[in-house]
Amino acid sequence: ELPPQESRGMLGRLFGRREAKPVMRRTLDDDMLESLEELLIAADMGVDTALRVTSNMAEGRLGRKLSVEEIKRLLAAEIARVLEPVARPLPLYPKRPQVVLVVGVNGSGKTTTIGKLASQFRAAGKKVVIAAGDTFRAAAVEQLQVWGERAGVPVLTAPEGSDPASLAFDAMTKAQAEGADLLLIDTAGRLQNRQDLMEELAKIVRVIRKKDPEAPHNTLLVLDATTGQNALTQVEVFRKIADVSGLVMTKLDGTAKGGVLVALADRFGLPIHAIGVGEQIDDLAPFDPEEFAAALTG
Ligand code: GDP
Repeated sequence: ELPPQESRGMLGRLFGRREAKPVMRRTLDDDMLESLEELLIAADMGVDTALRVTSNMAEGRLGRKLSVEEIKRLLAAEIARVLEPVARPLPLYPKRPQVVLVVGVNGSGKTTTIGKLASQFRAAGKKVVIAAGDTFRAAAVEQLQVWGERAGVPVLTAPEGSDPASLAFDAMTKAQAEGADLLLIDTAGRLQNRQDLMEELAKIVRVIRKKDPEAPHNTLLVLDATTGQNALTQVEVFRKIADVSGLVMTKLDGTAKGGVLVALADRFGLPIHAIGVGEQIDDLAPFDPEEFAAALTG
């Protein structure tokens, strides 16, 4: 269940609350399509994706009289069609440990997402280890330790300012020695210094590959839904500095900008493994395209 979003009732707004009776019929004409496009753009779907969604929806139906309910259902179905190919849970490999590198700008929700993931996998009977790889932010390390305690998962740390790659190597060694199923590695998110970050991530990868040539098995990019269209830029930037294999979008609770997820799916086709819907440990939900599309169209 997605919590209520501001964007809920999008079509209700279009038709006016009083008029938004399910049986009320409207002609699907250019004006109507334009209004729908505007609503999708306002929900941060981006112009290209909004146009594609509405024109697909209108195909073969222009000039027809449709009920509000039908329009909603058709639009939601078109949106779900864009989302379905990318809605894939984090793939689990029989690898021990499966190494998941977590990247994203500071504040996007990396720490929180790692805590939630650790808790979910632990609950599923997996042995999890966390490496607090953002060694430059003492607060991030402390936060991660708190999450580790909540999740009942050990968090490996290193002194502030020390080399994250060396911590990652130690974490790999420990995770292998203990037969852990999953190693979650947090990383720094200082995009201001892109070159440094790129080198830092490359070094982490190089070092963990000494222990397992196939690691990391996943590189998760964490994105904050409230940044709207900026999330698209972040994907572009992070794809240049890391081999991003999938996305987690956080803060989808209480944002009208959820449409950006549709734009992401349309533009990049990267798997969306989960969505963050709150600040608590259980607030990480599988990504359900139909539910999401229904909530977005309202
Ligand atoms: P990091 O800097 O990327 O590690 O980000 P944090 O994990 O510290 O998260 C930054 C802020 O976003 C914190 O206040 C979190 O509680 C909050 N946050 C993270 N995920 C979510 C989410 O899904 N929903 C909401 N409402 N807040 C979130």
